[in-house]
Amino acid sequence: MDFALSHEQQAIRDTCRDFAREVVAPAAEKLDRNHEFGYDIVRQMGELGLFGLPFSEEVGGAGGDFLSLCLAIEEISRADAGVGITLEAAVCLGSSPIYSFGSQDQKSKWLPDLVAGRKLWAFGLTEPEAGSDAGATKTRADSRNGSWVINGAKQFITNSGTEISAGVTITAVTGRTGDEPELSAIMVPTGTPGYHVLESYRKLGWHSSDTHPLSFESCEVPVENLLGKRGGGYRQFLHTLTGGRIAIAALSVGVAQACLDASLAYAKERHAFGAPISRHQAIQFKLADMAMETEVARTMVYRAASAYGHEGAGETTDEVRRLARYRTALISGWAKDPEFARLFGADATFDLSDHCDFDELMEVVELAGADQVYTVHGFTEDFARSLRRKGIRAWALEANEQLALAL
Ligand SMILES: Cc1cc2nc3c(=O)[nH]c(=O)nc-3n(C[C@H](O)[C@H](O)[C@H](O)COP(=O)(O)OP(=O)(O)OC[C@H]3O[C@@H](n4cnc5c(N)ncnc54)[C@H](O)[C@@H]3O)c2cc1C
Repeated sequence: MDFALSHEQQAIRDTCRDFAREVVAPAAEKLDRNHEFGYDIVRQMGELGLFGLPFSEEVGGAGGDFLSLCLAIEEISRADAGVGITLEAAVCLGSSPIYSFGSQDQKSKWLPDLVAGRKLWAFGLTEPEAGSDAGATKTRADSRNGSWVINGAKQFITNSGTEISAGVTITAVTGRTGDEPELSAIMVPTGTPGYHVLESYRKLGWHSSDTHPLSFESCEVPVENLLGKRGGGYRQFLHTLTGGRIAIAALSVGVAQACLDASLAYAKERHAFGAPISRHQAIQFKLADMAMETEVARTMVYRAASAYGHEGAGETTDEVRRLARYRTALISGWAKDPEFARLFGADATFDLSDHCDFDELMEVVELAGADQVYTVHGFTEDFARSLRRKGIRAWALEANEQLALAL
């Protein structure tokens, strides 16, 4: 078993690390405080080819592998997880379904701008009553006179409301097969009458990422906007979310590494009892734990990312992916632990009695709040835990069967 990154993978990681340090990090605080979307950063990530990393050269992509994309997301998220999720959602949730299930026409119409990062495509699965239980979709699309007429609502949809958002792929009920709803995926371009992007959320973190609720009122798109097979929506989103969740785990590793970097720097700089606190053994233990947990999570994520898309590795991917995402979500929870928060965020301490100013306190609260999202993406931590308890292996096999049917 070879754990070394290839020369190409190392080059991508190093390029993204430099880009994150030189371009993303200096802008991160302003974007976060002003709740701004980083258009210029997205343009530059497009020029670097990051939005096309895992796609073939035929569609303008870089022909790289999925691990390369995860390396890029990890490094960018080390500087700003809001920018990291913009890249993750654009590639894994926006472009990937079009790349994997789109017709030739759909691919040639949309992918050139998406893989170049000139436009962003969103993925609308979650609804007010369908989150972890995504199969409970209520949005309807009725086939009438050569069109799909869509009515319903989606929520928490990333990259749906920017100036460069080109559209969204939604899941909708298009009929029934016996007692079961027939779910299909339909592409809705921005600006279609009846498609409304509502006011963005006031989130606790990820302020440089764009997230909106959407509503559809008699929104009509041509039948050709069906993505993949009619009734294939459920299988398609399972496939889409598998890659998305590995990439989210990579994003969490980037955040964990950023926590470790900041903790280490602070522990060397902060003096107590006549020495930098890094000399006190209790602090050394915490730092050692953080370093170890980060590396364990990174290894799991790389293993899942390497297996993803390889024939015969589906079972490994599913299992490792779930563990990796769960593990990384837990360690990015450091931001919520007052002790770790004190270490890496001590400038903006939790200790209210220390006269810390409101903005600074909010930074820590935001990190703590933002971490919640690493557990929620795709489904919540509670749901993931209950799946594991019921027998992760059985579930993985079932999901794989569904996936095998879809492909
Ligand atoms: C910032 C952000 C960006 C997002 N971007 C997108 C996007 O681009 N596209 C998209 O489609 N979705 C997106 N989502 C939605 C995300 O995928 C959902 O939040 C996720 O699926 C969970 O759904 P939910 O929030 O409705 O919570 P629910 O699943 O409804 O959970 C609600 C509560 O019930 C608990 N719960 C749920 N199931 C169980 C169980 N089995 N056992 C015990 N407790 C349980 C949960 O822990 C939680 O407390 C985004 C979310 C956020 C926060």
